[in-house]
Amino acid sequence: MNINDAKRIVFKFGTNVLRNDDKEISLSRVYSFIEEISKLHRQGKEVIIITSGAVGLGSKILNVDSSESLSVKQACAAVGQCQLMSIYEDGFGKYSINTAQVLLTEDDFTNRIKYLSLSNVLNTLLELRVIPIINQNDTVSTSELTPEFGVSFSDNDKLSALVASKLDADLLVILSDINGLYDDNPKENPNANLISEVKELTEEIKNYASSASKGGRGGMITKLQAAEVVTHSGGFVRIINGKSPQAITRLFNGEKMGTTFYPVEQLSQKRRWIAYATNITGQIVVNEGAKKAIIEKDKSLLAKGMLKVNGCFDCGDVISIVDENNIEFARGIANYNSSDCLKIIGEHSDNIYEILGHKNYDAVITKDNIALL
Ligand code: GLU
Repeated sequence: MNINDAKRIVFKFGTNVLRNDDKEISLSRVYSFIEEISKLHRQGKEVIIITSGAVGLGSKILNVDSSESLSVKQACAAVGQCQLMSIYEDGFGKYSINTAQVLLTEDDFTNRIKYLSLSNVLNTLLELRVIPIINQNDTVSTSELTPEFGVSFSDNDKLSALVASKLDADLLVILSDINGLYDDNPKENPNANLISEVKELTEEIKNYASSASKGGRGGMITKLQAAEVVTHSGGFVRIINGKSPQAITRLFNGEKMGTTFYPVEQLSQKRRWIAYATNITGQIVVNEGAKKAIIEKDKSLLAKGMLKVNGCFDCGDVISIVDENNIEFARGIANYNSSDCLKIIGEHSDNIYEILGHKNYDAVITKDNIALL
């Protein structure tokens, strides 16, 4: 891809690229990003920024440890977010570019109506040539408290991917304090090699990623999860080192840097929501026959293929479909709630009415509402 062909671009700034070594805001770096992005904006590109840093900066300003408790972290986020936004607003204002603050929680993605309306407002902002500046709303978010079967996002890598996917962005640029994806942890192994191109996210590639980077919530694992979402939505992802000078300008000048992830097959918007964007409230374990029918023949999940039902979910919720070895291979929208599902495990669809006293669907999950992972 010629990077300059990208029209709609999402930039994600990690906490560590926005701060200096003393953990204060790095004004020189942030103003450089602002200047570089302003040039792209002037060329007619549509830009969305996902910014981290609220918790880290707030904790420095208040001189408290944000990991002390959830409420201290939420307080830090509230304080740090003000500092961040005032710098973005002031900086972009110098180039006559308007910015908008957008703070999001998991519910904005899990609730399908909110999810659909989110893209409307973001598209309107872009039409008005405003740069939306997005962060997780850490002050009210409790994503860390509710992840039993899977939360839509709890870090800004995944959030940036969900936004890029929803807006059909051409490119997500993740600016981190690391040069890209390595085949081993470069902070521990000096011989680790940078992987410059990833055409497919194989198990081998996923195994290269190790734990979270210090300071922010994300790490290489969450970056690969982000890459998976965006590449399945038809977009490119580039992970680059945001600490290297003029990184954005050099990237758009075609310099070879970081790791590029290439788009693969593109899921429909509805399947993207099912697969990636919403919280998961329950799980159905299915037998081998049902798994084969779903994966190979694009079939619905019937009651007779169910072995077990876990969690508490309503009809209309997105649930996880796992095989007998507990490996999740698909997600789908449930036609029956969990207590009804428990009653019809292993039953033929013809018996559903007799058992439940009602029957709205033959299938427990209809094929159009299943997204393979
Ligand atoms: N939203 C958090 C913040 O602004 C950062 C989350 C992350 O590091 O992924 O501090």
